[in-house]
Amino acid sequence: MWQFLTSLFRKKDYQLKRYPSSRELHMKNIVLFGPPGAGKGTQAEVLKEKYELVHISTGDVFRYNIKNETDLGTLAKSYMDQGHLVPDEVTINMLNAEVEKNAGANGFIFDGFPRTAAQAEALAQLMEEKSSQINAMVALEVDDEILVGRLLERGKSSGRPDDANEEVIRERIAEYYRKTDILKEFYQAQDKYHGVDGVGSIEEITVRLSEVIDNL
Ligand code: AMP
Repeated sequence: MWQFLTSLFRKKDYQLKRYPSSRELHMKNIVLFGPPGAGKGTQAEVLKEKYELVHISTGDVFRYNIKNETDLGTLAKSYMDQGHLVPDEVTINMLNAEVEKNAGANGFIFDGFPRTAAQAEALAQLMEEKSSQINAMVALEVDDEILVGRLLERGKSSGRPDDANEEVIRERIAEYYRKTDILKEFYQAQDKYHGVDGVGSIEEITVRLSEVIDNL
């Protein structure tokens, strides 16, 4: 009898390793996309509760490292203060570690990642290793001048040096158009891009995003 039971468990282990578990197949992984100031962080906080997803903001992880004066924080700060992107290799390794820390998650909301083609490729590979995938890129669309106004306003209370200076704000938006905006095409080619009007109240925008997510 015991032999029979242990052989069943062994078989189950074997199957779990070879095939995606039902949890992995039902994971919802969403890239929340948009330029700086589009409202990604605000919406991610709401959506993570609503859909029980783990929210990973690479900007928040960098700021946590800066606060704790780690080597990663020192390196990241030298780029962030100028409105430039942190190099891909460092960012990708950090993101992989954050995903690994949350191995039991129902799925993820990625906020501020990917921001380059190399990061998008790395994310696809990471999801594939987990027998999962990115289900959608949901993009908040907001005009540049509204973004600048919002970020200057946020800078009055956020304590973020990169929100405090209009030149740095404009450089962050320029960096977005140089390196990040092209990712729309990356996800459009896979039929995963969903643009949403990012102007309105927080609640109105959550409704728009939810309409997309509910239909995934
Ligand atoms: P955020 O909080 O998303 O506005 O990011 C703030 C800053 O952190 C950015 O301007 C970049 O310097 C850095 N950063 C955040 N995410 C990334 C990323 N995926 N790749 C490179 N740099 C990033």
